[in-house]
Amino acid sequence: MATSIGFIPSWHLDETLYSWAARFHAIHGNGSARETGALLFDAEHACRERDAPRNLHHFVNVTGGTLGNVHDLLRERTAIGLYLPFLSPSMLAAVKEKINCGKGIGWRAQFGMAASSLDSASQLRYCTTCIDEDRSNLGLSRWRVSHQWLGSWVCAEHGRPLCKVSPKRSAWELPTLCSQSMPPPSVSEAELMALIHLSKLAEHVARSEALDMDSVRQLALNGFREQGVTSWSHPVDRMQLARWFKSMPIVTWLARSQGPENKLAGGEWIHDLLRDRRVDHPLKWLVLWHALFSHEDQLSTVRRLQTPVSQPHWDASGQGRIWGTALDKLPADVNELLTGVTTVVQAAEQLGTTLLSLRKRLKQSGTTLKLLRSEQSLDERFNRSKVSIQIYMDENPLCTRTDVFLHCKTPYEWLRKHRPKELLLLMAKVPHRRSRQIALFI
Ligand SMILES: [Zn+2]
Repeated sequence: MATSIGFIPSWHLDETLYSWAARFHAIHGNGSARETGALLFDAEHACRERDAPRNLHHFVNVTGGTLGNVHDLLRERTAIGLYLPFLSPSMLAAVKEKINCGKGIGWRAQFGMAASSLDSASQLRYCTTCIDEDRSNLGLSRWRVSHQWLGSWVCAEHGRPLCKVSPKRSAWELPTLCSQSMPPPSVSEAELMALIHLSKLAEHVARSEALDMDSVRQLALNGFREQGVTSWSHPVDRMQLARWFKSMPIVTWLARSQGPENKLAGGEWIHDLLRDRRVDHPLKWLVLWHALFSHEDQLSTVRRLQTPVSQPHWDASGQGRIWGTALDKLPADVNELLTGVTTVVQAAEQLGTTLLSLRKRLKQSGTTLKLLRSEQSLDERFNRSKVSIQIYMDENPLCTRTDVFLHCKTPYEWLRKHRPKELLLLMAKVPHRRSRQIALFI
């Protein structure tokens, strides 16, 4: 059993676990980095795992759980916590088992991202204005977790590009203005807006529960079709998607970026992301989601990702799911919803789609809202007529077909004109004493 450490500083706002350990190291005199690593994580080289040291169980033991359990630490204090919502159910179950079993593991490898070349495990980011503020308010700077999320390349608070640091030596370091950092790239106004949107999206997603990635994938396809990037009836095209992506403000920034994200600028990866069912890198999903829905307000973009099942779905071959598997047929539940509303605007709102998209879809089905409603009133009339005749027949079990005709003339005539087959079926229940006369009435 690990011995508890004496003084346990509390979290300072949104600092990362690495930042807390570096602060702890500084408070205790900046002695041996190895000793601090051994004390906090039972690993002399723990400082090299800047995103999440493997022996978090040891850390929870020596801090007496006062700073959170292993799951909380991963979710809230490490950059790789953002991977968790994107994990498949089986991978998530495996991670939870590792969290509970108490053995030290490499979290990045556990998340299936060991070979990923899209983000760096050792690189850290900071905002110079944030450092200034921290130093004057607290005397010590911190690594903010919001600056370390995937896709976080600007400080959303100050609208400044973040500096990147890749420390080469094994050390517990807090950010300083003299850090050996790469200067932040200059950004245009449009790029800055895009980067802030993406950065806030990443922060929201990091706080999300497990995402339904199959539905998210389908909703992305739906988004492309609603925005006219791809057609409603053809499979998605790799180059078409890439051309669309290249028109986004964020792409000029990605293309100039010196980091691994630079390889996303081409946009060809979007096609594979949508077609493949395997779990792909969260950064791709964040960038795609931002590009698809950056014209919306931030909360709507996040809500679409967190609750994709509330939106109409399309699969990659151009066939609808909620709308039905055939383009010329609306499924019963959508049909019911459409006939229950009074305007197309209302229908679009309830289906969570745009007016333009709904009208287009109705046209493809060869119908309109007015037509659907008139069909519905025909159905209601049919039911009323049928029930009315049925009641007469139940009350007069010995009636003949002439009796039915004479006593239920209006519903009988309506059925003969609009639903003759159903009338035949109904009349088949009446005794055949005058069956030869049926032809007179039908
Ligand atoms: Zn800042």
